[in-house]
Amino acid sequence: LIGIQGYFCIIKPYSDKLSEMEKSVEESNKSEAIRKEFVANVSHELKTPLTSISGFIETLQAGAADDPEIRTKFIDIIAIETSRLKRLIQDLLVLSDIENKKIVGCDEFNVKTAVESTVETLKPIAAHKNITILTDLDEMMDITGSVDRFRQMMMNLIENAIKYSDDGKYIWVNAFFDGEKKVVSVKDEGIGISKEHHERLFERFYRVDKSRSKKAGGTGLGLSIVKHIAVLFGASLKVESQMGKGTTFFVIFEKEEEDIT
Ligand code: ADP
Repeated sequence: LIGIQGYFCIIKPYSDKLSEMEKSVEESNKSEAIRKEFVANVSHELKTPLTSISGFIETLQAGAADDPEIRTKFIDIIAIETSRLKRLIQDLLVLSDIENKKIVGCDEFNVKTAVESTVETLKPIAAHKNITILTDLDEMMDITGSVDRFRQMMMNLIENAIKYSDDGKYIWVNAFFDGEKKVVSVKDEGIGISKEHHERLFERFYRVDKSRSKKAGGTGLGLSIVKHIAVLFGASLKVESQMGKGTTFFVIFEKEEEDIT
């Protein structure tokens, strides 16, 4: 038991909670095999943009830089590949940070305030695609844990809703009570995800459509970060989707354990 700011909360070891969830999701996978696969994936994901960057630099050095049009085009590609690398490294750092810290914290935050500030930061990105984000958030909902982690989880879900929707669509972010459960959902009118992919969506580097993900600037780690954070909060995840109609991700916070004061 750890007492902070006049009340107590229970911190469950992260590894226990993660293993509980992983058992159900990846029952048959041995952890060593998963680790090896992860290292191979990371190496591959790092190597692809680096190969492209060094290739374009070499071509520029060999004379292509003399043509202003080609020079601009190649430099633009190098810039895109560099930001891909940056995003990948950022996501890897977030994942390792979550795994290392292993606790979610005891502070209480208001869900409506946290979601609204996240939505505000994403509105300019949505505006590029003329996408409107609407919210319906119960203002009475408070959650115990790190607000930064919660915002990161919401950010990843809403960013995906933007990435996998066509221009001019709507996204709804809702927070509501379902009995004693607190539910936060992100609904889009995007491309949808067919059922056979639902189980593997939260695995690191799993992508339904690799080229679409890469084109949209995806790292393949967004939903895996969401899963890790949900586990930290003791929350579960649910996906509902219809191809061509849209997808809804639900984060379901089970009733919190009683505070002992
Ligand atoms: P990425 O960086 O590729 O978006 P994620 O881990 O965030 O990686 O998501 C994994 C895959 O799940 C994506 O590549 C995409 O195929 C699919 N996906 C995630 N969110 C959505 C969504 N809202 N609509 C359709 N497909 C989605």
